[in-house]
Amino acid sequence: MTSIIETIKTKVDVVEEIGLVVALQKSGKAFKGLCPFHNERTPSFYVFAENQSWHCFGCNEGGDVFSFVQKQQGLEFREALLYLAEKAGVPVEEQSDRDPEAEREASAARERLRKLNEDALLWFHHMLLRSKDAAEARAYVQSRGISTDSVLSFSLGYAPDQWEALSRYLLGQGYSERELVMGGLARERLEQDNGADQGGNSGGVYDYFRNRLIFPIRDTRGRVIGFGGRALGDGKPKYLNSPQTLLFEKNSVLYAIDMARDAIKQARQVVIVEGYVDAVIAHQYGTKQTVACIGSAITEKHIQQLKKLTKQVTLALDPDAAGSAATEHGIQEALRTFDRVIVPVPLPSGRIEGQRSNGQNKARAQSGQQLHGIIRLEEQVDAEINVLRLPPGEDPDEVIRRDLSTWLHAVSHPVPLVDYYFVVKTADLDLNKPGDQAEAAKRLLPVIGMISVRVKRDAYMRKLAGMIRIEERSLHEELQRVLRGQTAYGIVSEFTKSSQGHMPKTMPGTQKQNSGELVGVSNTGEEKTQKRADSNSNQQWNRLDRSSRDKLQWEDYLIGLLVQNPALNSHVCGIINDGDFAGTDTRELYHILNSVYQRASSPSNQPFEQFVPSELLATVARVQKCVESGTPRDGVGLVREAVQCATRLKRTRLLQLNTELSYLIREADQASDKANLRQLQLRQLEICQQLRTLNSAMHLHG
Ligand SMILES: [Zn+2]
Repeated sequence: MTSIIETIKTKVDVVEEIGLVVALQKSGKAFKGLCPFHNERTPSFYVFAENQSWHCFGCNEGGDVFSFVQKQQGLEFREALLYLAEKAGVPVEEQSDRDPEAEREASAARERLRKLNEDALLWFHHMLLRSKDAAEARAYVQSRGISTDSVLSFSLGYAPDQWEALSRYLLGQGYSERELVMGGLARERLEQDNGADQGGNSGGVYDYFRNRLIFPIRDTRGRVIGFGGRALGDGKPKYLNSPQTLLFEKNSVLYAIDMARDAIKQARQVVIVEGYVDAVIAHQYGTKQTVACIGSAITEKHIQQLKKLTKQVTLALDPDAAGSAATEHGIQEALRTFDRVIVPVPLPSGRIEGQRSNGQNKARAQSGQQLHGIIRLEEQVDAEINVLRLPPGEDPDEVIRRDLSTWLHAVSHPVPLVDYYFVVKTADLDLNKPGDQAEAAKRLLPVIGMISVRVKRDAYMRKLAGMIRIEERSLHEELQRVLRGQTAYGIVSEFTKSSQGHMPKTMPGTQKQNSGELVGVSNTGEEKTQKRADSNSNQQWNRLDRSSRDKLQWEDYLIGLLVQNPALNSHVCGIINDGDFAGTDTRELYHILNSVYQRASSPSNQPFEQFVPSELLATVARVQKCVESGTPRDGVGLVREAVQCATRLKRTRLLQLNTELSYLIREADQASDKANLRQLQLRQLEICQQLRTLNSAMHLHG
């Protein structure tokens, strides 16, 4: 049975889809344009109609139509699937484990609630602009420096100081009392109460927001999901947000995200402030990459939304709350939620420091072998989290209005998180007192331990040593002790050029691919990869040429291994990444595996299937079957197989890129496009280098 993914791919052309957002220019058999994922003036972004793929030789992103849509629109896999299915006119089946009837009802209820919110917004907005009662609200808006343009673009509103004004209006529009309550716009009057606090009547409903300036809250797509109300006069609480509803989920709301989305991508930064007015004013003065985190500290759900748009998160923290437990929690949450990347760190020859020694290394050290070319793989948070330094005691909106240049400078020069910790964590200490000096070390060493870039770590060690006037060497000993206690950021794998490992020969396609072709020679088998899928998958399977079939089998096999033994992830994630997968389904499963595995700090015993969209469950079954047929292996054997599989996939991917590059280089040469030619040649050199390393590793592996 052909999967929905394949069906969609036969109906949506990658060139057309990308052409909607990137101006593509025909260049021989390929198309090129300016990469939407990094800043460039000359195009290094290519789309290949032949195998329906795309690749940027500038930032090294690439994939198929699914990965393009996901990345460009910041969508989850299933969202991209729904988007593309709609384009292709392919029906997406309801998720099988849910009652379709209930699902339809829930969807209708959400739709109705959206409409209710939209009607309420228009009413609030109209009140602010026109109502006589809104004079105080308008004066407040003015006093906070909010311009008329901002009032209109953010659709600010006013909830009058009356008990039933909005409710009466909405009931008149045909909504029921129950709908108003469910939508968080009204509350039910309690029977036994005489109604003194509820507007003097009994029965019925009364308005949830009264005498407040209203900030409509929208989702990324601009749909109203709830409201925030700031009290005018001395109403309590000062800020009141919609209660939890079908649409409004408190701990995931980012105010102004709809208006900030494009700016965040462009600025490659998101600034997180704490108040509605801060966000409105920041936008008004041009820093449109600003969102406000409303009603709760930063949660994983906030970061999940943001990390699709940028890797740089700048926190504009309330100076009073700086260093507070809530702030600290938010930062930790951000660090935890961002993806980890594995970066190779070359070790000075002959030194293995801080490394769990294994038999191999010991043996080599004993035999006096030089450990040249050993690379240590370190996990780093794939994000930059920093902090805005604002004048003490001032909120962002005050700073912006008083001195825009100070704000702009702070936004473009945020303080690295570690520097921020140095200030905050020692603020209450007297660093002249020995006791406090020790306390400072105790608080800051774990922070320094989180830095995996060695030079950076050393620089902060020097800084700390100077600050508390202690010998750097004894501080280093202390750091080692701290690091031993920290496993989450430790070394996860080791990949040596001269490993003695033996590769088993039990995996698919092993016989064929072991020859280790010379780098730079194009592999014709890989040139014509996967043709667009056909309606009959058997036919399609046969039409795929041998090597890409092998590749897909390898992908299945590797994912099968990983699903069975999630711990193997740490051994392969330094070798391959999402983009190395040719299969849309296997790539997404690898992505899910990685994010589930990263969350190992909160261990979940839930089955892996729980994290998988229903459209991919068939793939999970397929890859599991692929592994079950093999012979059982012990731990070491499994690691070796997974590493070999990943290496092979990486190599295939590099060979394919190399082939594409050779072709593009020929084109550029014929067109006498010197600048482009040079760039492509440089890229090919890098790829050849990587291939050579991989080839020698594989060769040694047997
Ligand atoms: Zn790029």
